[in-house]
Amino acid sequence: MIGISFTTAPLAARKRIALVAHDHCKGFLLDWAERHKTALSQHDLCATGTTGLLLSQRLGLPIESMISGPLGGDQQVGARIAEQRVDMLVFFWDPFEPQPHDPDIKALLRVAAVWNIPVACNECSADYLISSPLMSQPHEHRIPDYSAYLKGRI
Ligand code: PGA
Repeated sequence: MIGISFTTAPLAARKRIALVAHDHCKGFLLDWAERHKTALSQHDLCATGTTGLLLSQRLGLPIESMISGPLGGDQQVGARIAEQRVDMLVFFWDPFEPQPHDPDIKALLRVAAVWNIPVACNECSADYLISSPLMSQPHEHRIPDYSAYLKGRI
């Protein structure tokens, strides 16, 4: 990536995981989360509004809920990623339906790529992520070097 310097930052063993699912995918996410409830209970969970409410009812785990996605929740999750307050994103977006907040969805996926966090956009990739040994280990990941970026701007 031209013009961008990188550095590394630690990811703790206890990850901060954001969960989001579009309406037709919510059932898949709820079933996936139930299958991995023990693993998920080792981490801090947040979610967009409706997804968070449904997940907390199904799992009985503490989940911090943002505003509902179409009302700005995806942007809240994206802001947390940029602030390095979310370490991983599980986002079951619907490949069959346009969404009123398509620009927010694109922005969320973009900022997750910028900050190099693991992202699972479907059940199978979420299975791979949650079963990775890195889930329970501290490790380093590459992120944009913001101070170098600012220096290059002035
Ligand atoms: P919701 O939002 O969890 O409030 O349904 C998800 C989304 O549509 O981005």
